[in-house]
Amino acid sequence: MNPNQLQTPIVYLKGVGPNRAETLKSELGITTFGELLQLYPNRYLDKTQYYKINQLQLSGADVQILGKIIHIKTVEQKRGKRLVATFVDDTGEIELVWFRGQKWIRENLRLNEPYVVFGRLNKYGNSFSMPHPEMELLKEHQSGMKIAMQPIYPSTEKLSAKGITNRIISKMLQQLFLETRANFSETLNEELRTSLKLISRSEALLNIHFPKNQDLLAKAQFRLKFEELFFVQLQLLSKKAARKQKIKGMPFSTVGHFFNDFFNHHLPFELTGAQKRVIKEIRGDLGSSAQMNRLLQGDVGSGKTIVALMCMLLAIDNGFQACLMAPTEILAQQHYNGLKELLRKMEVKIALLTGSTKKTERTLLHNQLENGNLNILVGTHAVLEDKVQFKNLGLAIIDEQHRFGVAQRSKLWQKNEIPPHILVMTATPIPRTLAMSLYGDLDISIIDELPPGRQAIKTVHRYDSNRLKVFGFIRDEIKKGRQIYIVYPLIQESEALDYKDLMDGYESIVREFPLPDYQISIVHGKMKPKDKDYEMERFVKGETHIMVATTVIEVGVNVPNASVMIIESAERFGLSQLHQLRGRVGRGAEQSYCVLMTSHKLSEEARTRLETMVRTSDGFEIAEVDLKLRGPGDLMGTQQSGLLNLKIADIVRDNQILKSARYYAIQTLKNDPKLEKPENRAIRNTYAQLTQGKAIWGYIS
Ligand code: ADP
Ligand code: MG
Repeated sequence: MNPNQLQTPIVYLKGVGPNRAETLKSELGITTFGELLQLYPNRYLDKTQYYKINQLQLSGADVQILGKIIHIKTVEQKRGKRLVATFVDDTGEIELVWFRGQKWIRENLRLNEPYVVFGRLNKYGNSFSMPHPEMELLKEHQSGMKIAMQPIYPSTEKLSAKGITNRIISKMLQQLFLETRANFSETLNEELRTSLKLISRSEALLNIHFPKNQDLLAKAQFRLKFEELFFVQLQLLSKKAARKQKIKGMPFSTVGHFFNDFFNHHLPFELTGAQKRVIKEIRGDLGSSAQMNRLLQGDVGSGKTIVALMCMLLAIDNGFQACLMAPTEILAQQHYNGLKELLRKMEVKIALLTGSTKKTERTLLHNQLENGNLNILVGTHAVLEDKVQFKNLGLAIIDEQHRFGVAQRSKLWQKNEIPPHILVMTATPIPRTLAMSLYGDLDISIIDELPPGRQAIKTVHRYDSNRLKVFGFIRDEIKKGRQIYIVYPLIQESEALDYKDLMDGYESIVREFPLPDYQISIVHGKMKPKDKDYEMERFVKGETHIMVATTVIEVGVNVPNASVMIIESAERFGLSQLHQLRGRVGRGAEQSYCVLMTSHKLSEEARTRLETMVRTSDGFEIAEVDLKLRGPGDLMGTQQSGLLNLKIADIVRDNQILKSARYYAIQTLKNDPKLEKPENRAIRNTYAQLTQGKAIWGYIS
């Protein structure tokens, strides 16, 4: 049989004419046999067995239960009524619920007679309910025809309108299996199939579309998910390996005077175990002859700066310059001050370059950079300007990278003939296992330990109706000498309204905390940068007690004396943003607090976010919850990684399979880096097709 049959245009499948082909293309992106084969069902209706009520789980599959109705009632609710029937078997009870057609149902349902009910489950607390179930009296059910597992395919309004129903799609697939004789070539090697007990590819494809039973369905899903993730991992890993071979870097072969002097005499504290480990990892990269491209992840306050400094000292030890870039002027300034302080007893030349650096100073700086008199440059985007030329830039560090784009990173590369090593630091935590699997072109180091002696921040959730008490609390803290942040949401879509909220809030705070006893700063995006900096400065210096702000303060500001973070309309913030904001406090010796203010109206998801914040301050745990709530779409880097276009696997739900796929991809490449061995022929072929950008998984033999 023609091995390229899966590339046959879908219009040639019997039962699909030009009209249907057009709709399949516009609605589902399906143009070939192979793409139709990969239209996997969203869920299945399992009519092969009856479940006992005490066995029910929220699995997404519809279930079938045998029992009887013992009670029916109408429940009044805000919008209309609902009809609720109590349905029991010998193991428990569930509720059947109707919102529509209640009159007819009420008149026709029979109490205390055996029924087969069929439908999808919801769960409230500990009890299940089934909205709008299919109902059939047992005696009628037994005389009817039995259908096994029925696949339900993704659908759209237009598909149904054009008559491409679930049944039609299923028919098309039957036809496809007929024309291809259901014989699809293998994509994995024997060894993988045996050690993971995978069913063959043909069997998997057949059972994903026409499952014989639950067991075979589960096996088919596992096989296809594994395969999909395996090939994504294979691509990521080989891309990384190729980069390491191709891009030469400058090896920092010595650990010399500067690093050792600092380490032995000027470290202000003992490094945490995690900091030591991470420095070692980075040193390994810098010492090799490949260019480093590494992501350093560490929660707010985990101590990334000192790691950055020690890496820069390594660069100097090897005769190179280093630069550290921050996303805002304030941050760059803080870094500069901090580093200068740390280096004050050492002969290291360090300077600051930002948008507001004066012309004369700037010219001087440019000269020093070019003749190599300057060792470390700290700055903002200004560092990227073409006029800024280094004598020999060896290491570039980017702090809080989500504000820097790929284009800017690549500008850094051009600062030297040989690209400098690049270290990107971020406080946006990504769950460990996921991070390892997500990034193709970055290596990852993680600081997963906070310096000792940090006091946990007390986090509480308060409703707006308790505002007066919160004001009282603020007053007490100010009396103790502390400073307060009050943060308002600012979301592009509702910008005008949000500014109004911010200004209203500001006015009420000014009323509540009047001059001359209280000094208040305000910072928001509509202010001129100069005014922003001025207000920020006053707060940093302790001249003002309260900082009212939008999320512009989210990144990096360090005011150890600020010990209270009030977040207004906290329900409108995402988890990672809340976590970042909270990280602004808890930086000094005093007990710190975070107060999440909300209205009473909260969605379930918002409630979960708030509860998570109150429960934990572990950034990785928070990231894990966030990922479950929102999916991976917003994580940086996921766009390029191909993990968003998965057809069947889900990187959150199928995290275990992902881990195993990664493990086996590493093993496979270790044993056969170029996939040349005969036993890996299938893997090589599949890989080659995938990397040609063709969306076919395999072909028919
Ligand atoms: P971040 O990772 O958020 O950039 P920083 O580098 O700003 O964190 O460090 C936060 C604070 O913790 C700083 O005041 C820093 O001096 C301090 N710090 C960092 N490492 C340690 C350590 N090993 N022991 C004690 N304090 C530390
Ligand atoms: Mg930092």
